[in-house]
Amino acid sequence: MAVITDVVCPFCGCLCDDLEITVEGNEIKGAKNACAISRSKFMSHGENRIRTPTVKGKEVSLEKAVEAAAKALASAKRPIVYGLSSTECDAIARCVELAEITGGVVDNTASVCHGPTILALQQVGESKTSLGEVKNRADLVIFWGSNPPAAHIRHFVRYSVTPRGLYVPEGRKGRYVVHVDVRETPTSRVADQFIKVDHGGDFELLLALRAAVRGAKITEDISGVPAEEINALAKRMKEAKMGIVFFGLGLTQSDGRHMNIDVAVGLVAELNHHTKFVLTPMRGHYNVAGANTVTTWQTGYPYAVDFARGYPRYNPGEYTAVDMLAKGEPDAAIIVASDPAATFPANSAKHLARIPTITLDQKVTPTTMLSDVVIPVATAGIEVEGTAYRMDGFSLRLSKVVEPHGGVKSDREVLDMIIERVKALKEDA
Ligand code: SF4
Repeated sequence: MAVITDVVCPFCGCLCDDLEITVEGNEIKGAKNACAISRSKFMSHGENRIRTPTVKGKEVSLEKAVEAAAKALASAKRPIVYGLSSTECDAIARCVELAEITGGVVDNTASVCHGPTILALQQVGESKTSLGEVKNRADLVIFWGSNPPAAHIRHFVRYSVTPRGLYVPEGRKGRYVVHVDVRETPTSRVADQFIKVDHGGDFELLLALRAAVRGAKITEDISGVPAEEINALAKRMKEAKMGIVFFGLGLTQSDGRHMNIDVAVGLVAELNHHTKFVLTPMRGHYNVAGANTVTTWQTGYPYAVDFARGYPRYNPGEYTAVDMLAKGEPDAAIIVASDPAATFPANSAKHLARIPTITLDQKVTPTTMLSDVVIPVATAGIEVEGTAYRMDGFSLRLSKVVEPHGGVKSDREVLDMIIERVKALKEDA
């Protein structure tokens, strides 16, 4: 029995790096410090695995599956590479390369979650920090349109609400926690104050807060929030030693979208005339920040990148997977570490079923069920090492704690094989 310490959890954007994984032989026997979701990922990672590559439902060798994938991609006029956010950075780099050599599009799951955040931050910049600084300094913590107990279970205890920090030695008692949302959630019950905002009213409320921070007196209710509550929150924000806004999809995917983030950045910028204030998106998939970072480092753009002209072009809404599929544009798709058939609107998912779709995954999903080629792969962060980016933009090293189940290859290795065959087929054509 061996205990591997300081293991990084490959599930959500918190990337908790204090897990202790107990391994016996090639089996995981325990996952200390893991939350319920993380424990399930580690303890059940060997269950219901796809055992063999398939082409049109028939079991084939890996080489035959790779050949079928390469032929579909090499002959396509408008292929798309999608997913990327739940694998390690080297595999993400291979996805970008595959899009480039096929003249296709590469997009990641940010396009259906924090894409509006990225658009806003490209326009107006951002005031950033590390989760460590939040733990050590923040005495005012605001969750806006996010619910960590459901999606980032250890966020409260590790980074934001309860930990005793260097300058917040009292822990929970030293912090004032505010939750802004359209409805009460478990986060409201933990918070000192819950502010209920009308559906689609975030933009106006953020603008009113900014005006109040600037010195204006708000005299009427805004988006269902009483004027005195807005003025009081603005005062509390200015008086904090360090404040942070953690925001989620409740802000990025509601009315206003990137304009909500734009005005939130403006509010935070205004607050920095008075105190230290920052904002951080609650990134969901554990390496969606890595997908944005690697794609930016390689192409100049974070998602929705088109190589049809031989050089990268960026246009969310035009080169985003959900939009392209809804318009029926792609004539082949390769899905890596993602399940769009389970999450995309029906008309987008239906198009995936119409075209040659290749999927790399560990387990059966709605996307593998509609795919022509399915290739089982190892789990990054459990069976394969790699790098991932936490929600605050810090990179951490993922561990390999057991050998890949069934001896399968990693995403990166399978993508390397496909890339090699696509190049050869293109040269022969
Ligand atoms: S909070 Fe997220 S990163 Fe931390 S252990 Fe749970 S799933 Fe893993």
